[in-house]
Amino acid sequence: MPRKIAAGNWKMNGLAASLAEVSQLPKGGDVTVLICPPATLLAPMAALGRDVAAGGQDCHVAASGAHTGDISAPMLADAGATYVIVGHSERRTDHGETSETVAQKAQSAYAAGLIAVICLGETLDQREAGETLAVIAEQLKASIPAEATAQNTVIAYEPVWAIGTGKVPTIEQIAEVHDALRAALPDTSLLYGGSVKASNAAEIFSVANVDGALVGGASLTAADFGPIITALSDS
Ligand code: PEP
Repeated sequence: MPRKIAAGNWKMNGLAASLAEVSQLPKGGDVTVLICPPATLLAPMAALGRDVAAGGQDCHVAASGAHTGDISAPMLADAGATYVIVGHSERRTDHGETSETVAQKAQSAYAAGLIAVICLGETLDQREAGETLAVIAEQLKASIPAEATAQNTVIAYEPVWAIGTGKVPTIEQIAEVHDALRAALPDTSLLYGGSVKASNAAEIFSVANVDGALVGGASLTAADFGPIITALSDS
């Protein structure tokens, strides 16, 4: 059975005081609770000693070198991370990352002993042109390295048009993509991401082949993220 995972992506949000939110999260039961805070908070978050996994939001392809401002997978692991998100649409858009780069980052994550959360998803134009499944298949092929296994990789399906917009695909649209992902990756945890919140989490988790969620805005406080963890645990 794929792992159930409730993952929070804090993006460029959070100061030291925000760690109090992590301390207040409910126990996940059979759910792996993962928080990907800004890199500045990884070590203090891991030091909380809570049963919450820590993850990076990105890593460089290289393990070290002259790359000002970047962070490598071994550095994330050294700070206490066990996961790292790669290929988030904000990285693909803001930093021009290609699927080939994403695959290299995942390889770097594996080499450092990290689990890679590989993100993919279509734009609104691609969905409206009926290209969603073709785009997902192409991203899967190009973004996932040959070394990927169900143990070292998690996939997050995040329609770009649903991220931070409050727009959520229909249950049928989520199911269609997750069914296609499951056919390709029978044992890998498959997360849905895009405007997940307490009020829609249970419905999304009722969709076959959705093993959890990657949550942005609603992961920043325990009041918002706690009920999402509980909904996944109850599903
Ligand atoms: C995300 O950043 O991965 C995300 C899904 O954001 P939000 O939940 O805010 O839409």
